[in-house]
Amino acid sequence: MLELYEKTAIELGELLRTRQVASVEVTRSMLARIEATEEKLHSFVTVTPELALEMAAEADRRISAGTAGPLTGIPIAIKDNMCVKGLRASCASRILANFVAPYDATVVRRIRDAGMVILGTTNMDEFAMGSSTETSYWGPTRNPWHLDMIPGGSSGGSAASVAAGQAVVSLGSDTGGSIRLPASFCSVTGIKPTYGSVSRYGLVAYASSLDQIGPIARDATDLALMLNLLCGHDPMDSTSVPMEHPDFTSFLGKPIKGMTLGLPREFYSHLDDPDVSRVMADARKVFEGLGVSFVELSLPHLDYGIAAYYIIAPSEASSNLARYDGVKYGHRAENFDGMIDMYCRTRAEGFGAEVKRRIMLGTYALSSGYYDAYYLKAAKIRTLITEDFKSAFQTCDAILCPVAPTPPFKIGEKIDDPIQMYLTDVFTIPVNMAGLPGMSIPGGFSSTGLPVGLQLIAPHFAESRLVQLASAFQAETDHHLKRPPL
Ligand code: GLN
Repeated sequence: MLELYEKTAIELGELLRTRQVASVEVTRSMLARIEATEEKLHSFVTVTPELALEMAAEADRRISAGTAGPLTGIPIAIKDNMCVKGLRASCASRILANFVAPYDATVVRRIRDAGMVILGTTNMDEFAMGSSTETSYWGPTRNPWHLDMIPGGSSGGSAASVAAGQAVVSLGSDTGGSIRLPASFCSVTGIKPTYGSVSRYGLVAYASSLDQIGPIARDATDLALMLNLLCGHDPMDSTSVPMEHPDFTSFLGKPIKGMTLGLPREFYSHLDDPDVSRVMADARKVFEGLGVSFVELSLPHLDYGIAAYYIIAPSEASSNLARYDGVKYGHRAENFDGMIDMYCRTRAEGFGAEVKRRIMLGTYALSSGYYDAYYLKAAKIRTLITEDFKSAFQTCDAILCPVAPTPPFKIGEKIDDPIQMYLTDVFTIPVNMAGLPGMSIPGGFSSTGLPVGLQLIAPHFAESRLVQLASAFQAETDHHLKRPPL
């Protein structure tokens, strides 16, 4: 018999609505699991037991009254860069270490309206800049599958908490891979929706033209429930697209026979890890068994993705982070000599090394005389990458590729080598550059038992196709059912 904390949202929803368990019991089970494992993992920045139990009691009242929805009473963890009114939103930075959100992000309002139960906020790389959750001011999160390994980042706490049974589902944000990479490294299922599908209102901005909020769950079914909740127009976010989204759950269990998956030559030529190559080959066999055909294709500008991203993302970051000056909110240095000195000391004390590196890169790229040489050129590459994907999707329904070039690496292994760290995102960054939806699903394990994920990429607003493909894959495989030996 599975413990309550091991069950999926769809299973718990059934138990809740048939009154076999109460949300308060489910929530207690999750809180006990957090208590038992958090010292090892450090997935959370803030755990909120009182709030969770209060929300669970309210969910139980809704269930009794017959006004419950599919996610009522389900516990969720939220990345520490989203505003939950009354809770700290630190972005894992010293500069926001004591910042309490004065309002709810739109996604959080939707979570409250659905009657979900907020367990707390999850650990991340500082301001979501990183691939390993090691740059957090609060210290690193550990991979539940192997405590010496990083969980991936920047939404490492969100992925680790779901993998470890500390939360049923979670929210992450993805600017260059931050949902998909940790999902892959922790063997859970995560999606970065199309840019504009999910409101960014109340998400602390990193690189606004790339940032997107998305859910992390144990499987495609729970992800579909979460997409139904999160996707939709929001007038508070000017890039939110006013359109009708389908019922994502109607794509679960739908046959995928006759679909075509693209294999981009450039992605596969970067692959020299035997475990990742084997997992990709195995996945191809599973899809072929389900009646999917494969076509090789080319995304010729892919190789410029990382270089262009590390102009665009830091440029936007340097502008977005200008607001942390110690004047209105956040950390302020105590001893200073005049206003300029106050700014300098506040920012020197408040930001960590990686964030400072991004601010310097971005400020340089945007400065007069360099703007055309760097920023404008990067913007042109971005367009070319988008065009590459557009022509690729004329020959296939979706793209299958790895999430990362290797399985999870050791804590400390890449933290002093930013270029190596940046290269982790070679397969995920182009998806953000083009604004496409990308999903990470458990694909298997390395010879040493570490998770390896698969990435599926679809045309704009075709999240439903990703749900359909992932659900078909998960009906045939059991990687997503395995749990870490904590
Ligand atoms: N690792 C990438 C970066 O540091 C992407 C992070 C993200 O998606 N937030 O910018």
